[in-house]
Amino acid sequence: MGGVGQGVVAVDYPGRGAAPQRHLADLRIGPGCGEVEVGGCQGAGKFMGRDELTREAVRDWVGDFEVGKGRAYADGPAVSGGVRAGDILRASVKGTRHRPYRVTVRLASGTVAGAECSCPVGYNGRCKHVAAVLLGYTEEPARFVDLPDCDANLRGRSREELVALVKQLIRRAPELEPLLAAPIPGFPGTSPPTPDVYCRQAREVIRGVNPHNDWAEVEIAQGLTEILHTAAEFSAVADDLAAGAVYQGVADAVSEAGLGRGRLGVVFAAIPEPHRAALAQRMGLGEPPPAPPF
Ligand SMILES: [Zn+2]
Repeated sequence: MGGVGQGVVAVDYPGRGAAPQRHLADLRIGPGCGEVEVGGCQGAGKFMGRDELTREAVRDWVGDFEVGKGRAYADGPAVSGGVRAGDILRASVKGTRHRPYRVTVRLASGTVAGAECSCPVGYNGRCKHVAAVLLGYTEEPARFVDLPDCDANLRGRSREELVALVKQLIRRAPELEPLLAAPIPGFPGTSPPTPDVYCRQAREVIRGVNPHNDWAEVEIAQGLTEILHTAAEFSAVADDLAAGAVYQGVADAVSEAGLGRGRLGVVFAAIPEPHRAALAQRMGLGEPPPAPPF
């Protein structure tokens, strides 16, 4: 498969005009709890008198085609973990890869004001996963738990409660347990992090992607970018040693995967800067490898 890096930005959505990209970027909406900041919209009073979303509004946002594709996802078990925080909906949607995609939607007065999905074509928020979440919410809002302020919820708990909560989370998602061995940026541990923690994480990302999937390289890049985000968090607290360990670990895993120059180019094209250049340097590549032309 060639040129997926360019394909991501060139995907055309006929009949819907040029959709603005990254509608939610200015809201600083991250992948999960603790990274949502929607000024003035988090008060409990917001839930009183909310404008309900109609099917017409869903169709207006994603279009009939995606509503059709999202239908099977909405009716089955694919949509899970629905949360509503003020005007924001979040949920996970199980797609073709082993990890679910993350969908975030912003509502405004009974319409969809913005959306984003972590799938390879979800950057404009109009994919089938967004459609599934919107259909699920429209038809059964009780599937979404009201959680007005995730940060405040966590801050209000005692240390013992938080320990119990983390244990509960690991029971439900045991694949996350290795995170306990990794230091948290801003909270220096007794020993500095070593690359192998992040190398293991990156290996799991690469192994977890079906190489026959059309978007395999983009999905690898997305998974690696999530890990590399930790390097940025370390850099933000001036822990360059730890940031270097993250880059080195990911670089080691990518090197040993032997993706070949063409596939590697597509992976690199889908990794944002400054991670792309830093990773290439750690892999001893000099320049990031170019994505092959279409
Ligand atoms: Zn999607």
